[in-house]
Amino acid sequence: MNLHPRDANYADPSLHSHGLYIGGAWLPGSGIPIVDPSTAKVIAEVPDASIEDALRAVDAAEAAAAGWRTTSPRQRAEILRRWFSLMTDHSEELAVLVSLENGKALPDARGELAYAAEFFRWYAEEAVRVPGEFRHAPSGANHILVDHDPIGISVLITPWNFPAAMATRKIGPALAAGCTVILKPASETPLTAYAMARLGAEAGVPPGVVNVLTTSKPGPVVSAMLDDPRVRKLSFTGSTGVGRILLAEAARTVVSCSMELGGNAPFLVFDDADLEAALDGAMIAKMRNAGEACTAANRFYVQAGIHDTFVAGLTKRMEALKVGPGIDPATQVGPMITTKAVSKIDRLVSEAISRGAKVRTGGSPLSGNGYFYPPTVLENVPTDAEIAHEEIFGPVAPVYRFETEEEAIRLANNTEYGLAAYVYSRDLSRALRVGRGIESGMIAINRGLMSDPAAPFGGAKQSGLGREGGVSGILEFMEPKYFAVNF
Ligand code: NAP
Repeated sequence: MNLHPRDANYADPSLHSHGLYIGGAWLPGSGIPIVDPSTAKVIAEVPDASIEDALRAVDAAEAAAAGWRTTSPRQRAEILRRWFSLMTDHSEELAVLVSLENGKALPDARGELAYAAEFFRWYAEEAVRVPGEFRHAPSGANHILVDHDPIGISVLITPWNFPAAMATRKIGPALAAGCTVILKPASETPLTAYAMARLGAEAGVPPGVVNVLTTSKPGPVVSAMLDDPRVRKLSFTGSTGVGRILLAEAARTVVSCSMELGGNAPFLVFDDADLEAALDGAMIAKMRNAGEACTAANRFYVQAGIHDTFVAGLTKRMEALKVGPGIDPATQVGPMITTKAVSKIDRLVSEAISRGAKVRTGGSPLSGNGYFYPPTVLENVPTDAEIAHEEIFGPVAPVYRFETEEEAIRLANNTEYGLAAYVYSRDLSRALRVGRGIESGMIAINRGLMSDPAAPFGGAKQSGLGREGGVSGILEFMEPKYFAVNF
């Protein structure tokens, strides 16, 4: 990667990579411009890998595989622990890099870095705790022994909205399990991935264990890797649309898939909720990352008795936020990732307004060079408006009114997605009952945030397959092996 001189003072130059990272070597190249969404200016250029480059990365991962899977779990744990420490030591430079390429406000970028590094520490701890089983067969004829093998070479594909954390959430468990990997970060935000790879090498990750490549042709390049029978795992985080395509492609060679896909999180506030706590939680669930999060509250369902006060409180808080360039220390809400993202938000908001929604604040894109959309609150939104069914991925809070618990659950479930949901009520038994009724992989009760490296992250319905993080995350990169044993 070549950083332009204007921007060269913002991050530790030792973090800057200079090409594709394959087999422990940096292979120079160019072709993909990286744009700072705050200014719409190109800040760097990264290589554009071909199919041949990708297959070279598979060769490198294959060459490193036998050595890596036979290191002891303790050795793998120590390397991950060192990588965690290096990420922590360099967290400020990395946060600036994330902020520049993604646009997110620095506090969000710092929060992401802390979260991202934690996956290395968590999986350093889990590497030495892989479970097995030993039982009598019910017939009494033999014993059943279940071991876990590393699944094999893993292709990891990540989105632009969390350039650090989506990568560490996959690399951590894969390496802990004994797999070698090829990471393909999003074309908009690869600088952080390359910088983290550099730190990985410093932490002692052997050449070929982690390979990183960027490409402007993700379809054919990923397809070629999936068609290579040496690749045994695909771990993807991104949109449900691309996830569907990749599931079909993985079927050709029956590659194991973990899929972290889109969301449409409902945020339910009951009359008996603690209003201030619900507003605090709403701001986190909606505005972390300026709404560009798969877990972002996408639909606010508020019970009739508290609805108007909630909307007034939310509007006041949203209006008070400072929008600006991500790296400006005063900024609370950065730009969207691209001009296309702004157009999509604008389309959804305009459609809702044309259907009768009332704008309490915001409501149209901001002018200027960067890709800015203001914090927006909409009320009286029809429940069949497009905005209720598509991911907004921006700082827009549509609020809907409901009367009964049954109605709230029905509305919450009226989507093909099932990633995350939020419930606010002082009555914990109600909150749990509602949570159990919602078809979703994750439920936050009286909290605006649920992401935690120690918890299983993932979705139901068309939000995904499998879980990342937690105790089970490492098993996504392992294949159970059963031995029928006679002593
Ligand atoms: P995306 O368009 O699906 O892209 C995700 C990744 O897939 C990028 O690296 C992209 O590469 C690559 N890609 C695109 N087309 C491909 C193809 N045909 N074959 C192989 N790879 C392909 O998603 P995004 O816009 O970057 O990210 C936003 C989406 O991610 C949202 O839907 C969000 O909800 C979801 N997300 C989910 C989670 C979760 O944990 N469930 C977390 C974060 C985000 P290029 O960048 O080169 O196009």
